[in-house]
Amino acid sequence: MTDYRPETLAIHAGVEPDPTTGAIMTPIYQTSTYVQAAPAEHQGYEYSRTDNPTRTALQAALAALEGGSYGLAFASGMAAIDAILRLLNPGDHTIVGDDVYGGTFRLFDQVLARYGLQFTYVDASDPANVRAALRPETKLIWVETPTNPLLKLTDIAAVADLAPDGVWVAVDNTFSSPMLQRPLDRSADIVVHSTTKYLGGHSDVVGGAVVVNDQGIYEELKFLQNAVGAVPGPQDCFLTLRGLKTLHLRMERHSENALQIARFLADHDAFAQVIYPGLESHPQHELASRQMRAPGGMISAIMAGGDAAARRFVSATRLFALAESLGGVESLIEHPYSMTHASTAESDIAVDPGLVRFSVGLEHIDDLIADLRTALKEV
Ligand SMILES: *Cc1c(COP(=O)(O)O)cnc(C)c1O
Repeated sequence: MTDYRPETLAIHAGVEPDPTTGAIMTPIYQTSTYVQAAPAEHQGYEYSRTDNPTRTALQAALAALEGGSYGLAFASGMAAIDAILRLLNPGDHTIVGDDVYGGTFRLFDQVLARYGLQFTYVDASDPANVRAALRPETKLIWVETPTNPLLKLTDIAAVADLAPDGVWVAVDNTFSSPMLQRPLDRSADIVVHSTTKYLGGHSDVVGGAVVVNDQGIYEELKFLQNAVGAVPGPQDCFLTLRGLKTLHLRMERHSENALQIARFLADHDAFAQVIYPGLESHPQHELASRQMRAPGGMISAIMAGGDAAARRFVSATRLFALAESLGGVESLIEHPYSMTHASTAESDIAVDPGLVRFSVGLEHIDDLIADLRTALKEV
């Protein structure tokens, strides 16, 4: 299976015809428990918090797509991130890219810090900042690339290279998906996803995933998945597995549409700055071309008219629905300052009030640009 190309893996990895019926799609095994032939004599499944066949198929598919040995599915992206941080002990130190997802910052800052974990936020777009933040207690380096919402990139291989032995590098690959970059191939230790976004791809399920190569890390995470219990139900696993099958086609079109929209926005004087890794004006355009197969579907832009203009604009689009989240087939628009990133408002990593974030969907490009053009008249 691992010899296949990503497009083939998206469709076939993890999925075997059902042994009893031949069903080509893995069924939704909507069951909590499994009948045993004799005490402790079972077919690999005892209880669905521990394992469920629909989840097993999804986990195998996720691992194959990321080019990893082991995949684990969780009830949400946050549950997946939380499981990784539970590998650490009180006093352990984590270096975090400073433009992380608001919910990640909230988990680290308001929940895990209470349990004695320490965090330092640095601009990870320059690996030297990561190196300078290393301490003897450092156990984990946490990066998103591109980041949410400022689309800063981190050179994964460079950070993996500078991490001392015993310091794990975890990459939140939600914005890229394995179709655009595979962090394990660049020597990261842990890949994490909110499968709610591109992997599921249809805005109909919340989920998370972790993929690793190291058997020891896998076994600890597998233990935590069962011991803590933030597992996804079989129907959610089925929906995510179904979404994966078109991931390659979707990521291609997301990227094509986003590049055209980024160019349209960059030419419009309502915007002071347009941030998109596929634009030559992006400070890390060269790294994006080297590290990513395509620049992805997310664009951020700062409106010249600031907070008021941003609020008017995001309220005026029709096809671009005003909503949190991203990565679905439909286009979304949001105002990070008052929505997804409100939890960072009083912190050092607060976002610009004039910032607007686009999750470019798969609609016809002309319809999308017409929608933006009309909405811009309201600004
Ligand atoms: C959405 C998101 C998360 C959190 O995932 P949930 O599925 O909402 O819990 C984590 N990281 C990034 C980059 C995200 O966009």
